[in-house]
This record gives sequence, structure tokens and C-alpha cells, in this order.
Amino acid sequence: MSFSSEVKRELCKVENKEKCCRKAEGYGLLLFSRCFTPFHKKVSFESVHTVNIIAQYASALAGAIVDISAKVSRSRGDSYALSIIGDDSRKSIYEVFGHDLHELNLRINKNNIKCENCKKAFLRGAFISAGSITDPNKEYHLEFVVPHSYLANDLLAVLNDGEPGFQSSLTERGGNYIIYIKDSNKIEDLLTYMGAINSSMELMQVKMYKEAMNDINRKSNFETANMDKTFSASAKQVAAIAVINDTVGLGSLSEELQQLATLRLENPDLSLKGLSEILGISRSGVNHRIKRLVEIAERCAGGNLEEWTAKSLNE
Ligand SMILES: [Zn+2]
Repeated sequence: MSFSSEVKRELCKVENKEKCCRKAEGYGLLLFSRCFTPFHKKVSFESVHTVNIIAQYASALAGAIVDISAKVSRSRGDSYALSIIGDDSRKSIYEVFGHDLHELNLRINKNNIKCENCKKAFLRGAFISAGSITDPNKEYHLEFVVPHSYLANDLLAVLNDGEPGFQSSLTERGGNYIIYIKDSNKIEDLLTYMGAINSSMELMQVKMYKEAMNDINRKSNFETANMDKTFSASAKQVAAIAVINDTVGLGSLSEELQQLATLRLENPDLSLKGLSEILGISRSGVNHRIKRLVEIAERCAGGNLEEWTAKSLNE
């Protein structure tokens, strides 16, 4: 499953406590789904979670009848088509959210965003319908694809104005308006804000690992001649931590091992003594925990830790 689908799956599980927030999420979902039109339209989605949640909200909030069909394709991956059935259903959706079937330009009706949690819920809905995020191992990039100019500018304002601002930008691509964020901190903030806590943590860990590896590569380029022992040992530990992160996830570790793994990623050039001082345990204690981390990584790598490590050090 792509990182984007994982994020959406996590977002679909977030529950709204208040009625106003439920409505705000449904509004974000439908307004950005491309089904928000007076005419019959079939819209394709990649994620089954997305079509299901749009259908649920359309029926719960507006009593709309929704049709879903699956399209199986080996080359392009499965997709799911969704359409709102009948003029009455479409009219009812417009009415529930205070829109007029004859309006010329689709805009965000702010009356549907009542409290601070409503804003979170609204953005969550918009992201599930029209958003995507690139695997952070490749690139930091989150975007919303919006077909209408006014609607895109309204969404840009919701994202950027007030606290917290997400510093998104607007561009055009293939006749659509793209609202995007490239700053990894802002992407993390938005994921957390919308309720994708695990995905946000995953992104943070990938980032820490990448930074640690860059640090190591930079130093080993400059200091190959006298690369000290601490450093090459640390590089192996970072690579071992990365193997755990990429397989079972750092979240599966005990608290003390997680603490050490995070500390090591943040400080790749810290000696054992340095680590032991920060953790407030003995050097042999640190050594013992490192051994346990490496053992776990060895299991995660199916006994081929050296191969994995060599691969990630050469990337
Ligand atoms: Zn609310």
C-alpha cells in the first residue's frame, strides 16, 4: 500500500466528537470530491476507503443515494468509481451545506466550519478526497488537486491563514489547480493537525534517519583518512535502526530501546560515553541496549544485516 493510502486509511478512522465537526468533515469530503456538481458525474478514486467514507457521509448528512463500482486493472491498479444518483440527491447535498445549485463559482461556505476542530475535520475530508502525499523516503511533497480556481484559492486561504499556518503554495498542472507543501515540518504539522498521528511520526523518523545518514556520509567523505571508531560504529547502529524502522517500525520497540534509537539518530557522532551521560545509565548499560537493537535488526533483516547495512551506507 502506498504511503498516501496509508495516511488516508488512518484519517478515515479519526472520529469526530461534535456534530458540527462531523458535518465539516463531510463537507470537505464532498466539496473536493468532484461529485459536488448539479450534474450526474462518475468520479474515480484510488482508495476504497475514500469512496466508502464519501458515500457514508453523503447518505448520513444528506440522505443521498450513492453508487460505487470497482474497476480492476492489473496495469494501472484497482480503482473505484463513485456517483451521486438522481437530481434529488444532488440537490439535497447542496442544500445541507448551504449551497445554491445555480451558483457560478464553487466557493467554500465558511458557515460549515464552526469550531477549531471543524477546521481540522474539514481539511481531513478535503485531503481524503483530493489530497495525496509522496513517500517521504523519496521526497517531501503533499498536495491537493482542485479543478476550480476559486475553490483552490479558498482552500489555500484555509490552510495558510491564521494559526497554525501551513505555508502552502498554488500552481497549475494539466488544467487543475495544485495546492502543495514541500516543507517537511509543515507536512508533519498538517498530518498531525488532521489526525494522522502515526503517519506524521513515520515521516519524522524517516527524516531523522535521512539526516543521520547524510551526516555520516558527509563526514565519512571528508574524514575517510582518519574516520574514528566511534563514527563507523555509529553508522552501523544507524543503519540497524533504519532496518528496524523499515520493517517492524520503531514503535514496536520497548520504551528504553526506542529512546536510545531516537537519541542515536539525532546524534550520530555521539560516543558511548556521551550517550550514557544523556540517558543517565552506565556505558555497559548503553552497550547492552545497543546489542539488543542490533539483534532485533538482525532478525528483521532475516540474518542479512550486513548486506542491508552495506546497501544503505552506499545509497
Ligand atoms: Zn466543530
